[in-house]
Amino acid sequence: MFYVGCFLTKEGGYYGTARKILGMGGNTYQVFTRNPRGGGVLKAAGPEDFRKLNELTASGTVHPPLAHAPYVYNPCAKDEHIREFTRDTMREELEMLDGINGALYNFHPGNHVGQGEEAAFVFISDMLNSIMWEGMNTYVLLETMAGKGTEMGRTFEELAEIISRVRSPLRDRLGVCLDTCHIHDGGYKISEDPQGVLDEFDRVIGIERLRAIHLNDSKNPVGARKDRHEKLGDGYISLEAVKYLINCDDLEGIPFYLETPNDDEGYAREIALLKEMRTK
Ligand code: FE
Ligand code: FE
Ligand code: ZN
Repeated sequence: MFYVGCFLTKEGGYYGTARKILGMGGNTYQVFTRNPRGGGVLKAAGPEDFRKLNELTASGTVHPPLAHAPYVYNPCAKDEHIREFTRDTMREELEMLDGINGALYNFHPGNHVGQGEEAAFVFISDMLNSIMWEGMNTYVLLETMAGKGTEMGRTFEELAEIISRVRSPLRDRLGVCLDTCHIHDGGYKISEDPQGVLDEFDRVIGIERLRAIHLNDSKNPVGARKDRHEKLGDGYISLEAVKYLINCDDLEGIPFYLETPNDDEGYAREIALLKEMRTK
């Protein structure tokens, strides 16, 4: 099954947003966990919201949504209050998402702001050990990052190190969201050699940890560490590489989310393009 969707603002609940993406030609979606203009965590629209969404995902028509933590969070901040705020709000979001069967929750590992990688590994893994719980429904995903400034998570080795410090069985619900723009900017040749990059991911992290793809082109050449997303085919990542990824056996069943600079119409066009490029 090919699952593809994009960033949407949550309207009419999680189920309503699933209906919206179906109308746009997709079958999964990504939302922020909080309204970017402020306000609390985006809860279910009512008692029926999660139940109806779970029915739809159980039938296979729609893949459970990916919830993205706000960019202001920093699990490895220098300021203890920012770390505590990040931990408490992420925990609150995970508790809310637990009503959605198989939801995905994606976050940026953070910026170590000069404290160094070792300190960051400790902060990030300690936080995950304290906010995850046994038997949770949601998969918590570390996003691969472009390596801007002191950003953690640019290399697969860094992500593997964080994962290795999260205790079992919590680790069973921990995974990775691979962002094609970010790894390209981080120096991985995803455009030239997509299978080589996936093999490297498998060797360092294990392909079974890969639970979602952010499918974006990049405005900058490989290794630029800039993190500026581009529409598919308009940047430095070839459409051949995109085509390879959406058709390769290693990624079968893994949902793809567009985070390209588009409005809903533009997203619908890119979704249609991807469905055309899908050969199986
Ligand atoms: Fe992100
Ligand atoms: Fe992303
Ligand atoms: Zn980005």
